[in-house]
Amino acid sequence: MKLIPGLVALPGTSRANKTGSWRIERPLFLHQKCNGCRLCDWCCPEGIVSGQGKLFDCDFDYCKGCGICAEVCPVDDIVMQVEER
Ligand code: SF4
Ligand code: SF4
Repeated sequence: MKLIPGLVALPGTSRANKTGSWRIERPLFLHQKCNGCRLCDWCCPEGIVSGQGKLFDCDFDYCKGCGICAEVCPVDDIVMQVEER
């Protein structure tokens, strides 16, 4: 694809590449205090958090470890951990 100045790539295109290898931290969904608010799902820039009720998780093939899900969780039910390789 030829890039031109000012081009804005289509959202969601990171799905074309598995970006999980970029990660230095990973989110751990504790499944203890979740209230089902879905903020983690709505705020994840990769759109890879999913779940139902109070059980949410993410797709680690694409999670970049940005920590936004943990930051927005109102009950601290997501914690970031150092990625083990
Ligand atoms: S760490 Fe970032 S990319 Fe990974 S699930 Fe949370 S918000 Fe999404
Ligand atoms: S942001 Fe936290 S409380 Fe809300 S659905 Fe996600 S894990 Fe549950």
